[in-house]
Formats: sequence, structure tokens, C-alpha cells
Amino acid sequence: EQDPRVHGIAAAIRVVPDFPKKGIMFRDITTLLLNPKAFRNAVDLFVERYLGKDITVVAVGWQTEKCSTFHHSALCLRKIIHGTLLDWIATMNHNYDLALFVGLVVFTLHPGRGIEARGLIFGPPIALAIGAKFIPLRKPKKLPGEVISEKYDLEYGSDCLEMHVGAVQPGDRALVVDDLIATGGTLCAAMNLLERAGANVVEFACVIELPELKGRDKLKGKPLHILVESR
Ligand code: AMP
Repeated sequence: EQDPRVHGIAAAIRVVPDFPKKGIMFRDITTLLLNPKAFRNAVDLFVERYLGKDITVVAVGWQTEKCSTFHHSALCLRKIIHGTLLDWIATMNHNYDLALFVGLVVFTLHPGRGIEARGLIFGPPIALAIGAKFIPLRKPKKLPGEVISEKYDLEYGSDCLEMHVGAVQPGDRALVVDDLIATGGTLCAAMNLLERAGANVVEFACVIELPELKGRDKLKGKPLHILVESR
């Protein structure tokens, strides 16, 4: 029996065809955020599920570019451009004006920018409401303290998530939250990182699942709770 609030949540998520590239049906949750009732209902549904379940950690992948199927080629292109230009700068020995110019070109060509970290929107309100600590899992070189990292494979190349050492204590019960599960790569890397630090991942929670991509199969049998299935 579906909760009557789910329909309003599903209706508030806009689907944008061919973004960020042709063939991708982009599930845009910014329209859910414009609807305070639907946004609150989404957070409440998670909170009702996890309150009193002794969850001590809520963790989210927090990346400035996402690393899923839809922008692998963009990411590859960026890596190639970046790598080549950085090698070139290295050969130029302190020519700062030129380096600045090249930096601007890299920024302008950066095809991954604009795709944001959306687990971050849902994680903190859930953590506060259930009385759990909140842990951001971030891209390399963003966290100032000592970190442990988890590399994971993409279709082409690889990516990495990092977490502060000491954020998790052995025995912590963790809930991993994201807006959407596509291939499951991001959630799987988050789980590996948390479990290496001694936490027990109790469940994954996402607003949307794209079931055709079979991301669930990557979660090593751990439960995944979703609000909206999207075909
Ligand atoms: P994955 O690691 O493949 O499960 O990708 C999950 C992440 O990529 C999520 O955090 C989403 O923000 C993003 N993502 C992947 N596919 C889509 C899509 N069709 N619409 C919106 N976001 C997506």
C-alpha cells in the first residue's frame, strides 16, 4: 500500500529529456525543492522510517561532478584536456600569466560543472531529525584533515570518494542517502568507505531509483529504500 504522499513527491520531480546529453532522461529534483509540502513529505517519509532505528550516522556522497553513466564521456574529455594542459604548464616554469590563461580555458571547457551534489540536500535534515551525525563523503583534496579514500571504477576510468579519519567509529550504524540511484556505483563506493572504517551500513535511502540500470545489484544485498521508481 503506497503512502498517499508519494504521488505528490513523484509529481513534483521534473523530467528533462536529453540533459546533460542526448538520450538521458534527467530527473530534476530542484522542482521538488520549490514545493515545500512535497519536499517536507519526502524528508518526513525517510525520518518516519529511520527514527528509533538506532542509526548513528547519515552519510552522503558529496561531489562537485557526478560520476555516473551519463557524463562518463564528458569526464574523460575533461581529464584528457586537463592532463595535457597541466603537463604543458609544468614545462613552462613560473609563467603565471600564461598559466592563468590556461586555467581559465580549462574552466571554460569543463563539461562536468553544473552537475551538483544532491545527496547533500536530503542527508542533513534526516540526520538532524533522527539525531544521527552527518558525514560528507567528498571528492579528493576537499577535506582538510586526514582521510581514507575509496577508488571506484566507472565505465571509462575511475573516481574516488574520501572521508575524514575518525568521522566514523567502529560499530556505527550508517544510513547512506542520495537523491537518485542509477548504476549504483556511488552508493557502493560510499558503503565500502564506511565499512572499511568499521561502520555497519544498515540501509541505503534514495528519493528515486532507475530500476533498469540495476544499481541495486551492486549493493551487496543491503536493503535499498526508495520513494519513487522511475521508468
Ligand atoms: P550512479 O553512481 O550511477 O548510481 O549515479 C548516481 C548519481 O548520479 C546520483 O547521485 C544522481 O545525482 C546522478 N544521476 C545519474 N543518473 C541521473 C539521471 N537520469 N537524472 C538525474 N541524476 C542522475
